[in-house]
Amino acid sequence: MDRYYNKLIENNIKVTQARLVEDPDYYRKLSLGQQPKVLWIGCADSRVPSNEITGSRQGEIFVHRNIANMVVHSDMNMLSVLDYAVNVLKVEHVIVCGHYGCGGIEAAMSNKQFGLIDNWLRHLKDVYRLYQQELDAIEDEPERLRRFVEVNVIEQVFLVVAD
Ligand SMILES: [Zn+2]
Repeated sequence: MDRYYNKLIENNIKVTQARLVEDPDYYRKLSLGQQPKVLWIGCADSRVPSNEITGSRQGEIFVHRNIANMVVHSDMNMLSVLDYAVNVLKVEHVIVCGHYGCGGIEAAMSNKQFGLIDNWLRHLKDVYRLYQQELDAIEDEPERLRRFVEVNVIEQVFLVVAD
């Protein structure tokens, strides 16, 4: 059977075995609990996985991801993750990580309708409105998109502090 998920299962076995060669106690130590120093709020985009792009390992980063790394104050999922990370795990830092080429940001900047996701994009459109004067003054569209990514991160950091 040549299904993609079979490759993922095979890779998982290979990675697990490699970790055990490196350190026979690796998984036993992980089973004792987690003490991540960082909460990562990032985009769900498959190109920005927190561990791979930071060179970190299992147990190092507590993660919440959604489209365009949003901190929506009515999102019980995000609020639960944030509360648990700060009050139980006692993380030292919260990182909001955006990325250039974000499809969520592009979609929010367009006037197209996408269906269900439009409800989520509404939050991004609100961010755009906050920075509209600055963003509308940027004539080059790719540059405006990049700046929208940046101001969105700035705005989501404000919202983390507010929550
Ligand atoms: Zn994205």
